[in-house]
Amino acid sequence: MSRALIVVDLQNDFCAGGALAVKDGDAVIAVANRLMPHFATVVATQDFHPADHGSFATNQQGVAVGQVFQLGGLPQVAWPAHCVQGTRGAELHPELVAGSISQVFPKGTDAAVDSYSGFFDNGRRKSTGLAEWLRERGIRDLYVLGLATDYCVKATVLDAIDQGFSVWLIEDGCRAVDLAEGDGERAIGEMRAAGATILWSGAIAT
Ligand SMILES: [Zn+2]
Repeated sequence: MSRALIVVDLQNDFCAGGALAVKDGDAVIAVANRLMPHFATVVATQDFHPADHGSFATNQQGVAVGQVFQLGGLPQVAWPAHCVQGTRGAELHPELVAGSISQVFPKGTDAAVDSYSGFFDNGRRKSTGLAEWLRERGIRDLYVLGLATDYCVKATVLDAIDQGFSVWLIEDGCRAVDLAEGDGERAIGEMRAAGATILWSGAIAT
C-alpha cells in the first residue's frame, strides 16, 4: 500500500506538563495509537533543538515568549526553551506505541533556523530527507496528525503538498497552540485551500 501515517512532534514538551504544552495535546496520542496499526509505514517527526537554539526567547536579548522577531532574515515566534536534545522533553511521549514507528525524522537541529515542517527548515535551506525516504518506498499518500495544528502540522502538510504528495489531515488527531484565537481553524482552512482533504480518524479506524 502506498500510504503512510505522519505523526508530527508527539513529544513530552508539547504535552501536559511540558515546556510548550499544547492545550489538550495528550488527547492526540490515543488517536495516533489507534491509527498506527492501519498503516504499513508510520513516520514520526521530532523537534530536536540544541540548547542554544535561536527560537528560544531565553537565547534572544529583549525578546519575550510569543513575540515575533527576525531570525536569520525570517520572521520567528519566540518560544520557551523546548525539545532540547538529550532532555526528557524532547523524547516521544511514552504512551505513544513507538514500536509501530518505522523511522523518526529529527528537525530544528540547526540553532540558526527554526524548522516547523518535517520536510525542510523554515528557510527551506536543508531537507530532512523525509520526502526522499517516502518516494524511495513508493509512498504517494500521506495521512497527517500531531502537534501543533497551526505550526508544525500545517508546515508539514503544506510542504507535503508542494512536494507532490496527496495529503489527508486527520482533524481530531491535531491540537492547536492558538497564540491568537482561531489560529487552529485558520490553519485548517489554509491546508484545505492548498489541497489537503480534511477527515476524522473514524473514517480510517474506529
Ligand atoms: Zn521547536
